[in-house]
Amino acid sequence: MILATATHETVRCGCGEWTGERCEWVGAPSDTVVVEYMPAYLRASHEAAKNHGSYPANGAVRVRVERSCADMLLEDEGEQEWSHIVGPFELKAVRS
Ligand SMILES: [Zn+2]
Repeated sequence: MILATATHETVRCGCGEWTGERCEWVGAPSDTVVVEYMPAYLRASHEAAKNHGSYPANGAVRVRVERSCADMLLEDEGEQEWSHIVGPFELKAVRS
């Protein structure tokens, strides 16, 4: 017999890494998504090259953030060009 064990794993929202503003959200991994964004300091050079490249060679960063943080940040048009949700998967489960 297999017992389903509830996991009490919690994760911290990583949007602070993205925005520079600390985020206090902590919760279930299922309430988070993984966002890939281009750090601001790299945007100008990608703009100049007219080529954003692809992760991870282009310097893009992936962070796990709470869904509403992702929605809020991706509402910004300037951000949409450089950031997108890549999936709900576990960061540590990403295979190279
Ligand atoms: Zn957040």
